[in-house]
Amino acid sequence: MIPYSKQSLDADDRAAVAAVLEGDWLTQGPAVSGFEQAVATRCGVPHAVAFSSGTAALHAAVFAAGVGPGDEIVTSAITFAASANCGAYLGARPRFADIEPETWNVSAATLEAAMTPRVKAVIPVHFAGLPAPIEPIRELVGPDVAIVEDAAHALGGYSGEGEVGSCAHADMAIFSLHPTKAITSAEGGVVTTRDAAMAERLAVFRHHGMVRDPDRFVHPEGAGDEGPWYHEQQYLGFNYRLSDVHAALGNSQLGKLDDHVAARNAVATRYREGLDGIEGLGLPPQPGGEALHAYHLFVVHLREGTARRLELYQRLLENEIRTQVHYIPVYRHPYYRSAFGYGPGLCPEAERYYAGCLSLPCYPDLTPAEQDRVIEVVREAMGDG
Ligand SMILES: *Cc1c(COP(=O)(O)O)cnc(C)c1O
Repeated sequence: MIPYSKQSLDADDRAAVAAVLEGDWLTQGPAVSGFEQAVATRCGVPHAVAFSSGTAALHAAVFAAGVGPGDEIVTSAITFAASANCGAYLGARPRFADIEPETWNVSAATLEAAMTPRVKAVIPVHFAGLPAPIEPIRELVGPDVAIVEDAAHALGGYSGEGEVGSCAHADMAIFSLHPTKAITSAEGGVVTTRDAAMAERLAVFRHHGMVRDPDRFVHPEGAGDEGPWYHEQQYLGFNYRLSDVHAALGNSQLGKLDDHVAARNAVATRYREGLDGIEGLGLPPQPGGEALHAYHLFVVHLREGTARRLELYQRLLENEIRTQVHYIPVYRHPYYRSAFGYGPGLCPEAERYYAGCLSLPCYPDLTPAEQDRVIEVVREAMGDG
């Protein structure tokens, strides 16, 4: 069976994990700080804060942005539900912006239609790994609304605004280290930011909301009167720590990020050549001149929509090729219908996209022979064999 996605691990990765198991630290320790430093350097920002998952990273980022009950957040209709759930965790109402049919990303124009005076944070998603321009979004929302880039698909990509995660126009960017993503720590996530105060809030949220720095105590006399163990829980935080075991794997993988992204781009190029000119089959949007697509996903789009898509999905499966649909518009899920009153049809372009999208296998170790098999089955199924 050819899966739709798969991690790439090698002997160095296994040795890095084994080395941590030989040492004294298992949970958050020197491997986590080393990994954070390496991510910050890579993205060209002063701060990176690691988490137990990309979802935890999103939750912490919207907390650090000051989102709370009664506020609203806006994200893309076409994303993994975690991009919206993070607002709901904090008692905020998630709103959804439609996608642009040319990029499958949100834009300043589609976000504008979803903005209200209650919106405290917007969460643009670099869908499939194609970097979305952030500067026009900053111009739209102004300095008082936080921008948290959901860059889970786009680590290793860049645009005219710089490396994804460099936060040139955003307050924070989050990455996921799930095995389907560009690099993995098995489970894990990380937030990058240029803002020292936000980095501090992220770290506190990750550790139960507890503060140990006497300079930041609400009751500074506590340290003197009670003793050096004194610390304060100032917020309702969580245990969202990454372990040193996971961080060692993430750090080892980070060294291969450029190779992984280059291999994904090679897969995309082969698909574009092999699938070119098939009647009724659209190929994914390409980046402009200065940008590098990270190709977390290679999504084809069937113009005839749902019935043909199901046929193609099944034909590929019969041929031992697994594909996926990314994503059902988030507002269609029963939770979003019952908790927030949303339903099908909210975002017309997202609906059109969803009706025909299919993610083909795309990962660094996919061989040219396997890929040619995928191309052959797609061609046959589309009546182009
Ligand atoms: C993978 C992903 C996440 C969540 O990451 P986890 O590490 O699985 O928690 C968030 N947003 C998007 C767009 C993702 O693809």
